[in-house]
Amino acid sequence: MPAEQDMNQVLMVDGNAVAGGLQQRFGRDMTIVGTRCAGCARSAEIGALMAFVRGPGAVLRCPACQTAIVRIVETPAAQYVDVRGAAYLRFRRSPSR
Ligand SMILES: [Zn+2]
Repeated sequence: MPAEQDMNQVLMVDGNAVAGGLQQRFGRDMTIVGTRCAGCARSAEIGALMAFVRGPGAVLRCPACQTAIVRIVETPAAQYVDVRGAAYLRFRRSPSR
């Protein structure tokens, strides 16, 4: 649906937009953490995912197949980070390697 597509592009930013919040939760720069999409097996860094941040939470989607890889929801009591859409997250031992 073209209208829906336009709306998605208006609401979309890249994964760097949620980097600050993720860094607070994980205590490190998350934009360079690798992911593999559980939907299509594409590998990408968190910073390269498509971020939708205007909903009640934030959603990071696969740029290839639009699977929701990371969902972040805030409640008064807790922060939920749902990574069901990721086959894995890959944390390098050193950022220089
Ligand atoms: Zn995908």
